[in-house]
Amino acid sequence: MAIHLRAHAFAANPLRGLSASAAVSPSAAAEALRSLLDPGSASAPSADAAHSHPHLSKILPFRRGRPLARSPDHPPAAAPAWSLAWLPPSRVPGVPPDAFVFLGAHGEGDGKEAAAYWAIDVGEGEGLRVSGGGDGDGSTYVDLRTLMVATDWSDKDAMGELAIAGHARALLEWHNTAKFCGACGARAVPTEAGRRKQCSNESCKKRIYPRVDPVVIMLVIDKENDCVLLSRQSRFVPRMWSCLAGFIEPGESMEEAVRRETWEETGVEVGQVIYHSSQPWPVGPNTMPCQLMVGFFAYAKSLEIRVDKQELEDAQWHSREDIKKALTFAEYEKAQRTNALKVNQMCKGAEKGQSLSADLNVETGEPAPMFVPGPFAIAHHLISSWALEGAPKLPSSFSNL
Ligand SMILES: [Zn+2]
Repeated sequence: MAIHLRAHAFAANPLRGLSASAAVSPSAAAEALRSLLDPGSASAPSADAAHSHPHLSKILPFRRGRPLARSPDHPPAAAPAWSLAWLPPSRVPGVPPDAFVFLGAHGEGDGKEAAAYWAIDVGEGEGLRVSGGGDGDGSTYVDLRTLMVATDWSDKDAMGELAIAGHARALLEWHNTAKFCGACGARAVPTEAGRRKQCSNESCKKRIYPRVDPVVIMLVIDKENDCVLLSRQSRFVPRMWSCLAGFIEPGESMEEAVRRETWEETGVEVGQVIYHSSQPWPVGPNTMPCQLMVGFFAYAKSLEIRVDKQELEDAQWHSREDIKKALTFAEYEKAQRTNALKVNQMCKGAEKGQSLSADLNVETGEPAPMFVPGPFAIAHHLISSWALEGAPKLPSSFSNL
């Protein structure tokens, strides 16, 4: 059994499709939002022949990197599906238009009437006033990792919601960390409906774009002995093993980064490196919200392991049979259901105040001696492709996305 996704978690955002972005321009969306937020000050709409003005504006608030989510009041017997809790502009009164970040647009109804989607960071306590959200109205702010694990990966719409939330979080966190111009130190102000920034110093005016931090993630393969190299970091939950990964240094190709990171962390030499697929990863640390995981198969030229204990807790070669047992599909489904129920309880306010930032938590009567990350992570697909589909080749499920 292998789980084939249409796209990785956080990819295939329905608001970023080519037809979606053609429907409404950021400036037309911003103009429509301004008139909704403050109808009295609305100027006559400018002529924009190329783009229609959206008929609806929907706003997704975030608090401390967590989107506002809701879950049905009376969940069915199966795991309840969460959804993003979009608010109308009337629920965020008095917020300056510049605080909103444009996420994209989507056709509504017969496809003629478009809706524009926005995100906003409402901060803590003294933050922006948003009516609703965590006030017993069936919605609350939920950690994106919890939502990630709670999402049914076979549900295309649910995966679309997760991708939208991930994109929004990455953009909002970028706004939080890119407050000043790196060239002159003056304040950076949002432009293009929050999709860019520009230095406020008239003599500088440097344009500032959201950055993406690429991370190489590799499954190192010993072809002769039919084994792969997996590692553990001290922050991992017990029994979890995963692929090696690391940042790319200036002046280095991705293939070189794969070889250098593998050598530095485990002492294993890598020869051939084959690209597999890539995954946006907005659930890293707040200071690095726009990571892109770039996945590779890497063939080992040497086998002796020397673990860099600064970076890793352990690294070991694992046989194909052990890896197959570590692909604990029943446990992935259980973790998904458990987290979906957790989100449901949070939205009902049942577990307010408790820390529920659950990663994959696999508690069963007879736990497998090891497991690998669930299908929301590219590591899972690198490992399962090798274990279940034989020799690595470009997987058809990802190659053309
Ligand atoms: Zn500047």
